[in-house]
Amino acid sequence: MADFDYDLFVIGGGSGGVRAARIAAGYGARVAVAEEYRYGGTCVIRGCVPKKLFVYASHFSETFEDAEGFGWSVGERTFDWEKLVDAKDREITRLEGIYRRNLERSGVELHDSRAVIEDAHTVRLMADDRRITARYILVAVGGTPNVDPDMPGGEHVITSNEAFHLADFPKKIVVAGGGYIAVEFAGIFNGLGAETTLIYRGEEILRGFDMDLRKTLHEEMEKKGIRVICGDVFTAIEKTSEGLVGTTKLGEAITADKIMFAIGRKPNTAGLGLEAAGVETNRNGAIIVDGQSRTNVPSIYAVGDVTDRVNLTPVAIREGHAFADTVFGEKAWSADHELIPTAVFSQPEIGTVGMTQEEAQAKYANLDIYRASFRPMKHTLSGRDEKMLMKVIVDADSDRVLGVHILGPDAGELSQVLGIALKMGAKKADFDATMAVHPTAAEELVTMREPSERIRS
Ligand code: FAD
Ligand code: NDP
Repeated sequence: MADFDYDLFVIGGGSGGVRAARIAAGYGARVAVAEEYRYGGTCVIRGCVPKKLFVYASHFSETFEDAEGFGWSVGERTFDWEKLVDAKDREITRLEGIYRRNLERSGVELHDSRAVIEDAHTVRLMADDRRITARYILVAVGGTPNVDPDMPGGEHVITSNEAFHLADFPKKIVVAGGGYIAVEFAGIFNGLGAETTLIYRGEEILRGFDMDLRKTLHEEMEKKGIRVICGDVFTAIEKTSEGLVGTTKLGEAITADKIMFAIGRKPNTAGLGLEAAGVETNRNGAIIVDGQSRTNVPSIYAVGDVTDRVNLTPVAIREGHAFADTVFGEKAWSADHELIPTAVFSQPEIGTVGMTQEEAQAKYANLDIYRASFRPMKHTLSGRDEKMLMKVIVDADSDRVLGVHILGPDAGELSQVLGIALKMGAKKADFDATMAVHPTAAEELVTMREPSERIRS
């Protein structure tokens, strides 16, 4: 491999790129990474990690209220946004340092630069206009938030990128979108004390999730004081002396200090030089790859959000790992995109794995649906009117559990464990044979005896 400067050049120091670089270097490959912003990528710098820290922060307002039911008197409470942002930034800087050091310790060379592809084996580093050759190039450049380029006043909106560094905490905010980021940030802003509205174009938030969960989350968000508007979208945003005024398709004018767009993300492929190398993309700009993450150009691979398969950190990491093992470690395998558990850090939280009822009904003739909706034990004393929902979807013919959907405290944690059971092909009889853990909410999962609904073809 000596004809090239490196065996592997990775573009993007995020979840997928970092994992691939470290594993490949571990096999003795000469590896370099280019990162144009900060090592750790979206997840560490302006995604999963700072988001979860904000979610924790936003939970305290309810915790203080709930404490009273348990005999505590909590005095005057104030919230300091600047303090939270500073603390979060310190933690992110610490993590970024760990990412850098781990790469360096693995023998990976770091280039703090944007990289652009010139041909099947060449990249250009924009920082010092240097050309580098590599036997393989891995594109792991992630994605970037969508905005609506045609909407008048679109320049006034923020996205999740800016939400992590707002100079002032907004008194009133509108979040546009009904996916992961919109519901998570609506919960964050509301919990931290902003008057919060969520506006979503479709019939019900969180398209793609089980309808019972979607409806229940919608109700619970409203109980917490979030205004949830469905079936409407912004058509224009205007900056006035009162703040931003967003006009909607149905003719409403909503005033807010900030309007955040969370309307999906697009692959970071603009200006990356893919055309020069002949790498094929789809109409959304995502790089087209096969099961081994290889593009149509044999020396160029792509992993993570830039391929728009399943845009989650653990998936990008697996894809990067599988690539490095396959190409440099002579251990061929590919990331399995079936039965991926996922959590939405909404309030209440969602944890889910497997098919929704709607998906199962489209595929299976006979289903048993087990549904439990109850008040979590903590709220018997806190007095909070909040429901927890658990739903188990079973193929009535084989007894196989097809999906489990949970809304409530620690649902994300539960989905990780349920993911193992479903991946092993668990049957409802296995759930029934498992002893309950008492008193927990999760014991409902193994004590649901009678289906709440029997669907027969
Ligand atoms: P990224 O992590 O985006 O890394 C790509 C890197 O490439 C970036 O650092 C970028 O600066 C760099 N780059 C881009 N172009 C170039 C170039 N030309 N040259 C050099 N460098 C370049 N997923 C979860 O699983 N759980 C969560 O809770 C979660 N929360 C999220 C919250 C938010 C607000 C967002 C936006 C995303 C969240 N995600 C979450 C998704 C997760 O962050 C992504 O799926 C994951 O980061 C994808 O990893 P990646 O390696 O593909 O790309
Ligand atoms: P999502 O794809 O989850 O949601 C996008 C939302 O925007 C949908 O409600 C969509 O509506 C709506 N939308 C799309 N286009 C428009 C438009 N032109 N005008 C108005 N609304 C529009 O994307 P997010 O931005 O929320 O998050 C990006 C991805 O990041 C997620 O899909 C997920 O993979 C990952 N992520 C994961 C998290 C986690 O694991 N907890 C947390 C945050 C992000 P419709 O449904 O009608 O198409």
